[in-house]
Amino acid sequence: MISIFVLALLLKTSDAFFWRHGRYSEVPPLELSSTDYTGKIIIIGAGPAGISAAYTLEYLGFQNYQILEASAEVGGRVQELDDFIDLPLDAGAEWIHTHPRILQDMILFDDVVTDETIVYRPKQYRWAVFRDRIKIPLLFRRFVYQEWKFKRTTWKSYLHDYMYTYVQDRVQVGAPVQTIDYTGAKIQVTTSNGDTLEADKVIVAVPPTMLQNGNIDFIPDLPSSKTAEINKVEMYEGFKIWFEFDDRFYQDYTIIDSYRIYFDGVLGKPTQRNVLTMLSAGGEVTGDLVKLSDENLFEFHMKELDKLFRGKATEHYVQHRIQNWSQEPYIKETWEAGYNSRFDEGRILEPIDEKIYFCGGYLSGDHYATVHGAILSGREVAQKALKDAA
Ligand SMILES: Cc1cc2nc3c(=O)[nH]c(=O)nc-3n(C[C@H](O)[C@H](O)[C@H](O)COP(=O)(O)OP(=O)(O)OC[C@H]3O[C@@H](n4cnc5c(N)ncnc54)[C@H](O)[C@@H]3O)c2cc1C
Repeated sequence: MISIFVLALLLKTSDAFFWRHGRYSEVPPLELSSTDYTGKIIIIGAGPAGISAAYTLEYLGFQNYQILEASAEVGGRVQELDDFIDLPLDAGAEWIHTHPRILQDMILFDDVVTDETIVYRPKQYRWAVFRDRIKIPLLFRRFVYQEWKFKRTTWKSYLHDYMYTYVQDRVQVGAPVQTIDYTGAKIQVTTSNGDTLEADKVIVAVPPTMLQNGNIDFIPDLPSSKTAEINKVEMYEGFKIWFEFDDRFYQDYTIIDSYRIYFDGVLGKPTQRNVLTMLSAGGEVTGDLVKLSDENLFEFHMKELDKLFRGKATEHYVQHRIQNWSQEPYIKETWEAGYNSRFDEGRILEPIDEKIYFCGGYLSGDHYATVHGAILSGREVAQKALKDAA
């Protein structure tokens, strides 16, 4: 009994993996119902925050905007693995870290969200340092860990079907922004392809890593009070690996340490296939692993699994895929650490001269470092940009 309480405590407090799950607050309605602003707005980054900012502008009847996305794919850290098994799997964000009713709350047009969700509540836990699995009695399970996931669909299809479809005509992919010059009345935005676009307002919706690494050159420099806060945002490096096996020899959840877990990647989903997912985010070991080639990453994990499960990984291996987020040139992280307690979000959110605005999952208060947080942050900032112009 004592070990169950100890485990519950460890799970509750372990750094990387456990959000303040289930906490739900109602999404406030938009304060604006329309706008007569005619200036040009450029949004940088087509992750959930950037797409949501555009979606909000579109809803408010504002169409003089454009999204510039660096990579060839939109969605940012919301991506889909659609060629692995008979269901699409989330390649990046996967859990709904609040009550799923938020999926409908975030909709502005008349769409009704039809995606089914499942309660994600693993029953068998294995802590790698213990030899045998630990079963958490029913009574304690919901106190240990419970969240939600999409049943047959993904965060990517949600973002695509309900938001991206409204804005896709104004998105340019393969357009990494290099310079934002806001010296004059008009802002000059230059991409690495050499194109320069003019805007009256710019919404920066890129991961904080990109700002910390100086991937975008601001002219003049961002105010030092803002840069200081941006530099305080901590990120977890990391990756996901999916293994398909022809036998389910593993537990629902195998915890290597606070930063590395193997979990049943299809728990509660309608498929007969066996997928074990490794999620590695943060910590020293992950920091070393993200530098490995995909081949070496695979070998390392197969060895680890064979050790944990007495050779069963090699015996039952069918196929695998790897998504190394630290090697994505325009992302370089999984999610932000520390529940924003260590930096002043307000300072980053404060627009510069009512021209340059910031949004993203890392700027979403209570919904910190989540997809729905990014969506709400994009919505807030789009509204703010229009309100400032009124
Ligand atoms: C492995 C993993 C697991 C996760 N699990 C969950 C989860 O279960 N639940 C959850 O809610 N959240 C999860 N997250 C976090 C969630 O994905 C992020 O909080 C969310 O995607 C942040 O959205 P964003 O729009 O702020 O940034 P991003 O999604 O990172 O989008 C930013 C976009 O900006 C683009 N960009 C970067 N630089 C430039 C440039 N110079 N010019 C133009 N475009 C640029 C990028 O290419 C990207 O498309 C996870 C993330 C990862 C990687």
